[in-house]
Amino acid sequence: MIAIVGNGLAAISLAKSFLENKIDFHLYDDCNKNNASSISSGIVNPVSGRNFVVNPYYDVFLEAALNFYRIEDQPYIEPIKVYRKLAHDFQAAHLSENTFDNQRFIRFKTKDIIEILGCYQIRVNPFIEAIKQTINQRVITLKIEDFWQSIQISPHTTIQIGDYRYDKVIFAEGIAVLNNPYFKDLLYNANRGEILLLEDKGQNLDHVYHHGKFICPYEAKIWLGSSFDKVSATTKVKTKENYDLLVQHIDQLFLNNSPPKEHIIGHFGAFRTTTWDRMPIIGSHLSDKRLWVFNGFGAKGTSMIPYFTSQLTQALISDKPIDSYASIERCYIKLGKITKPPKFKKRN
Ligand SMILES: Cc1cc2nc3c(=O)[nH]c(=O)nc-3n(C[C@H](O)[C@H](O)[C@H](O)COP(=O)(O)OP(=O)(O)OC[C@H]3O[C@@H](n4cnc5c(N)ncnc54)[C@H](O)[C@@H]3O)c2cc1C
Repeated sequence: MIAIVGNGLAAISLAKSFLENKIDFHLYDDCNKNNASSISSGIVNPVSGRNFVVNPYYDVFLEAALNFYRIEDQPYIEPIKVYRKLAHDFQAAHLSENTFDNQRFIRFKTKDIIEILGCYQIRVNPFIEAIKQTINQRVITLKIEDFWQSIQISPHTTIQIGDYRYDKVIFAEGIAVLNNPYFKDLLYNANRGEILLLEDKGQNLDHVYHHGKFICPYEAKIWLGSSFDKVSATTKVKTKENYDLLVQHIDQLFLNNSPPKEHIIGHFGAFRTTTWDRMPIIGSHLSDKRLWVFNGFGAKGTSMIPYFTSQLTQALISDKPIDSYASIERCYIKLGKITKPPKFKKRN
């Protein structure tokens, strides 16, 4: 029996996979809805950053996502058109000179607007709610403080949480990992993202438009975001500065069709859990193999979680190692807690 801790996309995805693979589990839900998953725009995009870097793992992540984000016959993932305004002439020059991968994913729409090909959008909240309904018998509601008071982890026995005993606990707790006594010293950081939600009154937005910030359709509304602030997780999750900054982007993002400020329905913020190399940190604790962590999905969680959910499930079922670029081992190596395994030369 396994305990999954968390209620965001990472924890819910593990629950879906465990159900499909007949792994017995409970999911510990603190009922917090102000998390990264709840305000994610859910875009799966092969290209990111100012330099249009192509994600080398995009094909495998996308294939996993296309299979994963469906429940029975209902898809929660759809293709979406993504347009991006180039910030400066040098970006256009950089792109036209660039490599094979850019040709695969980028097409010039006008001199200074490109279309990024191969993008999708996931309806994150409806997906989470639908999974929660299918697992509701297995959900245990407990506030974070009560969870930490209830858990008893003594060596060589099963782990106890309240009245239940578990062979393993998997922490998929988003930014709360920074307070987890077993995993807080891993190299996770906080990154604050703030967004605005606006009413869609006549814009009928059906694509992503990126110019500094971006807009996209979101549950019959318009999502505008986001900030990307490296801050401490103890700072405020919403700030007036970022609200003002996002509002300033409205005119340039909506071109000639700007909604009035009264159409702003809400301003939301959440912390993403990031890592130094933008890859998640997944695996079991150095000295207690019953404790696992599934975290660090940063700004790409909706894209990466399906692939790594499958990896973690396979690691539990058949001891298959997690890909080294996402494994907890690379973090323990970086921290000097274990040494790098020697590379053996292949014999001819
Ligand atoms: C503004 C914004 C936009 C984004 N846009 C995109 C995008 O377009 N594409 C993309 O791929 N990714 C995007 N992301 C990233 C993606 O949303 C995240 O990587 C992903 O949602 C992280 O999911 P998570 O479950 O790890 O964390 P979270 O969603 O933060 O969930 C963790 C949950 O666990 C709960 N928890 C913690 N401790 C306990 C406990 N002891 N017991 C029970 N529950 C506990 C927390 O309260 C929290 O609700 C975006 C993120 C943000 C903030």
